[in-house]
Amino acid sequence: MDSCINSFRDSLSPFDSIIFDLDDTLYSGGLGFGQATKRNIDDFLVEKCGFPESKASALRIELFKTYGSTLAGLRALGYDVTSDDYHGFVHGKLPYHLIKPDPQLRKLLQSIKQRKIIFTNSDNVHATKVLNRLGIADCFELIICFETMNPNLDKSTRPDEFPVVLKPSLEAMKIAVETADVDPRRTLFFDDNVRNIAAGKAVGLRTVLVGRAIKTKEADYAIEDVSNLMQVIPEIWYNEKNDSRHNRNEMELDSILTTTTIVA
Ligand SMILES: [Mg+2]
Repeated sequence: MDSCINSFRDSLSPFDSIIFDLDDTLYSGGLGFGQATKRNIDDFLVEKCGFPESKASALRIELFKTYGSTLAGLRALGYDVTSDDYHGFVHGKLPYHLIKPDPQLRKLLQSIKQRKIIFTNSDNVHATKVLNRLGIADCFELIICFETMNPNLDKSTRPDEFPVVLKPSLEAMKIAVETADVDPRRTLFFDDNVRNIAAGKAVGLRTVLVGRAIKTKEADYAIEDVSNLMQVIPEIWYNEKNDSRHNRNEMELDSILTTTTIVA
């Protein structure tokens, strides 16, 4: 892998690393995971924290707006909720069986020779489960996740001692850039969340807004689905021998292009 990475460092592609969000970026939000997660958070607020059922949804939204996530809000308010208990409850009951292997996505990722990194607010258990279900876990050299951004959380003596760090905070973005050890100007960052894209831009990353046809101010590219990647950002595949996208592995790339066109 190292030789691949090094040969690309001097190539004509403007990118030598690619950072992908996971949920709603590499698999569809249409599976109902978003709704199921919200329901599970509401249940957590009722069953584990004792809030009345009628207030749970409004509280979840309020905590998200004010603190960036329900867990961050609960801890900031002094609730001694561990990240493992929270994530175990909230993700534990998700319908993972609905996520199917995605061989087309796997082929696409394998054709990208740059470094590939996952950057998600989810915990490592969820990220690993999803990547394994999609059949793409081995396509990435690194997973930057909740635990990466919050290494001291479970060592704290008070719940509000270490505020929870998550996208879209600039601190989270800086941790990601540092942990991945990338030059942000040569790194593409994919995310479906407009605020995360703005935060990515603020730390100098090249940004790709996923799930939209139209760019926001901070997005360098917009892509409705990552399966269209080769059409939208062909420069990922440029290399040093020939300033075109088809010289790396013509047959492999042609087959992806053909299949993608049929699907679209
Ligand atoms: Mg996402």
